[in-house]
Amino acid sequence: MPTANHPSSTVPDTVSNAAGRDRFAARLAAHGLRLDRLAPRVLQINVGRLCNLTCVHCHVNAGPNRTEVMAEDTLERTLRWLETTPIPVVDLTGGAPEMMPGFREAIRRLRAMTPARHIIDRCNLTILLEPGFDDLPAFLAAHRVEIVASLPCYEPENVNAQRGDGVFDASIEALRRLNALGYGTDPDLPLHLVYNPAGARLPPDQASLETDYKAALRDHFGIAFNRLFTLTNMPIARFASWLRRAGQLAAYRQLLEDHFNPAAVSALMCRDTISVDWRGRVYDCDFNQQLGLHATDTSIWELDLEVWASTAIRTADHCFGCTAGCGSSCGGALT
Ligand code: SF4
Ligand code: SF4
Repeated sequence: MPTANHPSSTVPDTVSNAAGRDRFAARLAAHGLRLDRLAPRVLQINVGRLCNLTCVHCHVNAGPNRTEVMAEDTLERTLRWLETTPIPVVDLTGGAPEMMPGFREAIRRLRAMTPARHIIDRCNLTILLEPGFDDLPAFLAAHRVEIVASLPCYEPENVNAQRGDGVFDASIEALRRLNALGYGTDPDLPLHLVYNPAGARLPPDQASLETDYKAALRDHFGIAFNRLFTLTNMPIARFASWLRRAGQLAAYRQLLEDHFNPAAVSALMCRDTISVDWRGRVYDCDFNQQLGLHATDTSIWELDLEVWASTAIRTADHCFGCTAGCGSSCGGALT
C-alpha cells in the first residue's frame, strides 16, 4: 500500500527539474530554507507493485497483475546491510507488502536482530482476508509489528469508490480481527489508520478528523485504533492519470504550490528516511522512487552512510505535495 501506502510510466508528466525548473527548490531558497539530511531513522522498503487492489489514488500503479516484487536474494542483501547499521525502524510498503514471498521470514529476521528493529507494515487490510493470509494478523501480533492501514473514509460509499466494491466491509472485518488480537488497545500493538482525500483537495485538520473517525468507527462498528494519519494525494502515477482525465491536473498542482507551508519543511520525511525499491535501488522517498529519481547509483547493500549524509536530497515540483497545508508524510500531517 502506498499510504499510503509505490519506475513509473508517468515520469515526463510529473518531474520538472529534469528541465531545470525545480520550483520547489526555488521556493525553499526564497524562504531561506535548506533540506539537509538527519541521521537515517527509517529504512522504507517498497517490496514491489503486486497488490490485491487497484485503488484510484495509488501512486504506485499497483495491482494483481504486476510482477515487480523483491526477490529473495535482494531481500537477503538488504537485510544483511541493514544489520550493519543503527537504523532502528523498517517500514514495509508496496503494493501489498504481505504478498512478497519473503515477507514473514523478513519479519522474523528483523525481530531477531540486535537490537531488534521496529517494523511497520503498511497494510491495505483486505489482504488479511485473502486465502493464505488469514493467519497473518496473529503472526504480525506475535512479532509486535506496527500496522498502518488505509481506510480513506469511515463511510462505505467513499471507500468503495476509491478502492473498489466491497473494500469497506472487508476493511471493517480485518479491523475487527486486529482488534480481537489487541491491536489498537495494547500499547505493544499499535494500529494507525490512513486517510487521503477522495478528490483533488487537501486533507482536513488531522486532529479533528481523528476525533470523527474514532467516534464513527467505535459507535457503528465497535472498532478502536490509535492514530489517524492524513495524507495528501501526490499527483503522480494513477492519481495523476485520474486528475488528467478529470481535467484537474494543472489546477491540483497549483493548489499544492499555492498552499506551500514553510513550517512543514523541517519535518519532511526525506530528511531521515532511506527508500529502497524491489531491485535494491536507493531513493529519498517512495514518491521519488515511483518517479525514477535515484538518490545515488549504488544499491542499498553498497550504501555508505557517511557518503549518504552529504548526498543532496533530490527535489522536484511534486515535493509541493509534502508541504501543502499542514504537510504530509507517511506519518501523517507535519505541522
Ligand atoms: S492499489 Fe491500493 S492498496 Fe494497493 S498499493 Fe495501491 S493504494 Fe495501496
Ligand atoms: S516528495 Fe520526497 S523528496 Fe520531495 S519533499 Fe516529499 S519526501 Fe521530500
